[in-house]
Amino acid sequence: MKLEVGVGPDGAPNSLAGRIASMRERIAAAALRAGREPGEIALVGVTKKQPRERVIAALDAGLTDIGENYAQEARSKYAGLPDARKHFIGHVQTNKAKAIVETFDVVQTIDRLDAGRAIAKAARALGKPVRALVQINISPAERFGVDPGDAPALAARLRADEGLPVDGVMAIGPNTNDRGEIGRAFRRAAETFAAVGGTTLSIGMSGDWEEAVDCGSTMVRIGTAIFGERE
Ligand SMILES: *Cc1c(COP(=O)(O)O)cnc(C)c1O
Repeated sequence: MKLEVGVGPDGAPNSLAGRIASMRERIAAAALRAGREPGEIALVGVTKKQPRERVIAALDAGLTDIGENYAQEARSKYAGLPDARKHFIGHVQTNKAKAIVETFDVVQTIDRLDAGRAIAKAARALGKPVRALVQINISPAERFGVDPGDAPALAARLRADEGLPVDGVMAIGPNTNDRGEIGRAFRRAAETFAAVGGTTLSIGMSGDWEEAVDCGSTMVRIGTAIFGERE
């Protein structure tokens, strides 16, 4: 099945089921090394630029959570899928709030009051509860995300004024090979998560999930390491 999986790192299993199982095993081992319970860490498969057939194959192989950056791309790709929790991980444009809430169950990228208000309003209008995370900026190269120091106030305000269930924090790590810098950024995210409250600290991608697990991640967002290189 040529479509099932994209080119992966050397030594990676050549089936989606194999890649997902191996990712789960590696996360579990890293959790244990960090003195944590493997069950504390959820795996979101990031399906951007991957075809719908591959998403379905991943769900068949036991993946339960999937994520996309663009509502437009996800709308047709995610329509009528087998049961899966769908995470929006792209930038929230307020004029797309309705489309985002229609397609997704979790909005991970609330980085300003306007965005949170628009998502809360769309959720009320559609009668669809959404879980939200506050996206913080812990990386100099990242354009989006609220300053970590401002995250608790943003979360409190959205919970109180909009009834938006803010359930934690999401961040994108710095794009660097400096493992120390990655660790420092993720520790900042963990401190912010402690101040914001909730159940979810969404940090860690294909290149930095081990540091994220070390720093307390409860949700890693993995694209390339599962699905292979994006075209
Ligand atoms: C693309 C993306 C991911 C997954 O990245 P990989 O390096 O392919 O694992 C995770 N989170 C966000 C916000 C992304 O945009």
